[in-house]
Amino acid sequence: MRIFILATLLSVLAPQAMTAQDFDFNEMTYTPQQTTFRLFAPATAKSVKLRIYKDGQSGRPVKTVAMSRLSLPVSTAMAGISGSSGAPGAVWGVTVGGNLLGRFYTFDAGYGETPGTFAKAVGVNGRRAAIIDQRTTDPDGWYADRRPVVKSPADRIVYELHHRDFSIARADARYPGKFLALTEPWAINHLTALGVNAVHILPSYDYGSVDETRLDEPQYNWGYDPVNYNTPEGSYSTDPYDPACRIREFKLMVQALHKAGIAVILDVVYNHTYDIEHSNFQLTFPDYYYRKTKTNKYSNGSGCGNETASEQPMMRRFMLESVKYWVQEYHIDGFRFDLMGCHDIATMNAIRSELDGLDPTVFVYGEGWSAGACALPVSTLGVKANISRMPAIAAFSDELRDGLRGPFDDDTKGGWLAGVPGQEESIKYGIAGCIAHPQVDMKQVNYSQAPWAAQPTQMMAYVSCHDDMCLVDRLRASVPAITDDALVRLCLLAQTAVFTSQGVPFLLSGEELLRTKQGVHNSFESPDSINQIDWQNRERYPQVLKYYQDLIALRRHHPAFRLGSADLVRRHLEFLDAPQGVVAFRLKNYAGRDAWRNIVVILNANREQATVAIPEGTYTIVCKDGEIDEQSTSKIFGRRTTVSPQSALILHD
Ligand code: CA
Repeated sequence: MRIFILATLLSVLAPQAMTAQDFDFNEMTYTPQQTTFRLFAPATAKSVKLRIYKDGQSGRPVKTVAMSRLSLPVSTAMAGISGSSGAPGAVWGVTVGGNLLGRFYTFDAGYGETPGTFAKAVGVNGRRAAIIDQRTTDPDGWYADRRPVVKSPADRIVYELHHRDFSIARADARYPGKFLALTEPWAINHLTALGVNAVHILPSYDYGSVDETRLDEPQYNWGYDPVNYNTPEGSYSTDPYDPACRIREFKLMVQALHKAGIAVILDVVYNHTYDIEHSNFQLTFPDYYYRKTKTNKYSNGSGCGNETASEQPMMRRFMLESVKYWVQEYHIDGFRFDLMGCHDIATMNAIRSELDGLDPTVFVYGEGWSAGACALPVSTLGVKANISRMPAIAAFSDELRDGLRGPFDDDTKGGWLAGVPGQEESIKYGIAGCIAHPQVDMKQVNYSQAPWAAQPTQMMAYVSCHDDMCLVDRLRASVPAITDDALVRLCLLAQTAVFTSQGVPFLLSGEELLRTKQGVHNSFESPDSINQIDWQNRERYPQVLKYYQDLIALRRHHPAFRLGSADLVRRHLEFLDAPQGVVAFRLKNYAGRDAWRNIVVILNANREQATVAIPEGTYTIVCKDGEIDEQSTSKIFGRRTTVSPQSALILHD
């Protein structure tokens, strides 16, 4: 606040001056009469040049213009704005007359050419920024596009997909591997029939590891190597050379999903860049955007060779402006922060607050860990243990994930699903949404000594994601001599735990089709043959897809499974005594005003049938032996029930 007042005062005292705090990363503003360029760069730069080009990747500049320093140098003393090198920053700018529509440009502050840090349109491979009229990228009816809203994050059903995995092997796809695949009826029909109401798309900003000029050759990457954070990836568009194409097609995708009631969540990777040397941050303002260690080496908390410095005022501002831009320009409904544990808590809370100002239903979650040690104290970072200090931000629960399937560092080790004893408490903790619950003994929970979520909506419940083996592969690797039949049973059992958790359920795309990645653990650059979803599995395993559909419908129809508040969970969720390998609980007394009075869920990972004591009564069986039927009239009576091996039983009265 003090910085803001100071900045405001300064602008009043010297109206022509501009401080870095005023800089909103709007690096190019086009009008038919003139185009204005701005760049935050070192105040000490000998010169900052703007080059205008006809072409997006080749050819000499048609014009080179010197930019002027518009603001006073902003020193460390004033606003904490200086690089690790201590260089003060300043805003540079120039206005070029004439109609530059369709031209490309780069900045050069003496460190090499860059499209800038915040290019909103780029040429092929994102090397040069493009001058376009953003409004011409809006599809018909875009102004009327509305985000599908849910009351609580607990009502979300998140489906994580990679554009190429999802559609590349789909025989009837018109745009396999492209943004537009998600506009096609087969895709929309699959998602809506499955019942998900949010897709989380793997990195879809412009990334570096796929050469957009060689799309006729086999190339694959997850895309965790950001180049331009604020423009869509070219290889997912039908024409990466046309700067407007990727933008328009991305919006068509969002529009089609929104029409189907499906929110779009963006995977954002602000914690590191493809590399330091060639990154647009480094080319614009060397060392400003990266953390260094005490010995002046680049810190590597991302495990990718660098780690950005979210605590630097302009990096924080960059992140705020970036999420705001995706929400406003692309109507994005949520963000998944890669390695959120690299970002500082204050930045994450500032992002939450910025988004609340736009739309509080924009959902934020992230990985509550880093990949290595960061150059900031852990107590200040957005790690899982600090989630209670980050209201309305969620984190993935590795307690539930690994309790179910086994530890992340050894694919051959199993968890509860594989019959490993002692995992029950971790699963109970996950069922409760990682909040404090009187019946969960934290001493027996893996990884966490204390409950980290203040609310169950701060916990992402999952058993698999793009990282590590998918569920089928993990079960094959960790359950000795597993039969095909047991494999199906355990997959369905695992997801029953996930979808009856009070957290926010999350599903890797293709699990509903018994996806395999042929045992590849880190498939980030594996070919399509490994990563693609085999759609023929729909015919091979129709009962699997049906169970997923019915399980998701069960959650959506019954508020008891998504109470959304820690107090309600503690009031209505009661764990029942159960033998080893079994987790049993009851959602009691019309939890969440459910139509069902009491719901009993029993999850049995044992290879034998289990007997569990339940409160005496007459119950209707809605889930048994891998089948769900909410309308069932099948009853049981009494004080105990049996559960088939490796399966879930759900009853209500
Ligand atoms: Ca790219």
